[in-house]
Amino acid sequence: VRRRRRWTRVVAVLEEFEESCATHVGRLRQVVDAMAVEMHAGLASEGGSKLKMLLTFVDTLPNGSEKGTYYALDLGGTNFRVLQVQLGGDSSDRSAILRHDVVRQAIPPHLMTSTSEDLFDFIASSLKEFVEKEEGFSELSAVKRMELGFTFSFPVKQMSVLSGILIKWTKGFAIEDMVGRDVSECLQQAMSKIGLNMRVAALVNDSVGTLALGHYQDEDTVAAVIIGTGTNACYLERADAIIKCQGLLTTSGCMVVNMEWGNFWSSHLPRTSYDVDLDANSPNPNDQGFEKMVSGMYLGEIVRRVILRMSEESDSFGPVASRLSEPFTLRTPLMAAMHGDESPELREVARILKDDLEIPDVPLKVRKLIVKVCDVVTRRAARLAAAGIVGILKKIGRDGSGGITSGRTKGQQKFRRTVVVVEGGLYTNYSMFREYLDEAVTEILGDEISPHVILKHTEDGSGIGAALLAAAYSSPN
Ligand code: ADP
Repeated sequence: VRRRRRWTRVVAVLEEFEESCATHVGRLRQVVDAMAVEMHAGLASEGGSKLKMLLTFVDTLPNGSEKGTYYALDLGGTNFRVLQVQLGGDSSDRSAILRHDVVRQAIPPHLMTSTSEDLFDFIASSLKEFVEKEEGFSELSAVKRMELGFTFSFPVKQMSVLSGILIKWTKGFAIEDMVGRDVSECLQQAMSKIGLNMRVAALVNDSVGTLALGHYQDEDTVAAVIIGTGTNACYLERADAIIKCQGLLTTSGCMVVNMEWGNFWSSHLPRTSYDVDLDANSPNPNDQGFEKMVSGMYLGEIVRRVILRMSEESDSFGPVASRLSEPFTLRTPLMAAMHGDESPELREVARILKDDLEIPDVPLKVRKLIVKVCDVVTRRAARLAAAGIVGILKKIGRDGSGGITSGRTKGQQKFRRTVVVVEGGLYTNYSMFREYLDEAVTEILGDEISPHVILKHTEDGSGIGAALLAAAYSSPN
């Protein structure tokens, strides 16, 4: 009888969790509206919303006419990448990227909390090594100045397309002396120090790089979304809608706005006690609320918290002292592996519980509940991200609803082909997440509009796009 009661309580933990994670389409539409409203507020005044709606000064997106060899450096998460991109310059051929080379490298964890000098010296020397390999040690490369697009995926207050100061760190970075400093200058100094003749021609956020590649490949691309370790989005806005910056001079009448949507918050978000605890125990409480429900850094951790709660109600998890009680032991890729376990015995789930969380012999029926927890967490995350995407479309009048400020007539808006590019490890590698997201966008938009909205998956866009922007904004030597 006692066992039965315990089992009932474990099931109750799941049921309660599932209920508070509910994202029926009505709820999602409220999130859509809240996103659009917050976007307005963030554009109206500095500090007007949790959405920073940062200006990027990117007012022209690459169009295919760019030509030559450009470099990019992509820093923004657990890895950084250096790239060389060769552009053919044939704007009639949207595949005019002749080739690109990428080297990916992990950032040594101690450099994430060290000094800016240590971090940038390390990065600059990796970049130099890469350039020397690509160009050989020819005399030409020593004389010729190379142009670099720098993707730096943290909130930056941009002064121009090629410079900006760091507002704050996210995603586990904490280098105090960097906050408030010009990011390009830090890199530029480190490159000069080691005699690397390279100029930062564009400083962008990863989402902006992704948008640049998306637009290069398909002119109907209006927004880019990143869902990896963190999450963010940017989109093309009319300059006159950026009220907080009156008289903004742009060549195209538009500017890319970096939303920093990881910090989005609304009372309509389905928040659970596990989210509250995760936030309270994080290094940045009350910050990045949307990111904490959506991105790869946190999904596994939410699952761990729910399983831990279940284990407190049951003896199926063995003695409590397992790794289950250590924060962040269940990484999101492991969670995805459990979620995707299709074996009838859930062997992969059992293996991960045993090897990674040190809880052997969890009965099959409990393993099934654990898979369900993964499903609930991912489904909520993906559907909220989908609502965010539709929120952007609503703001720019591409969701078919008439938009809040759009002056266009309804008939025109309805059938305009609209592309949103999506990139990031969570969307790329976690198939259930991707399916839930795509499905929710269709569900929110409805059958009439959704065929005109295309979610396109890109890879390496944040880096290649930065090189494209370096090309578009490069100065003549
Ligand atoms: P970044 O760290 O720059 O965001 P990515 O876009 O590659 O880099 O995203 C990496 C993140 O994607 C990881 O932190 C992890 O959360 C998530 N991820 C990577 N692989 C998987 C996977 N197989 N299943 C689920 N999530 C994954």
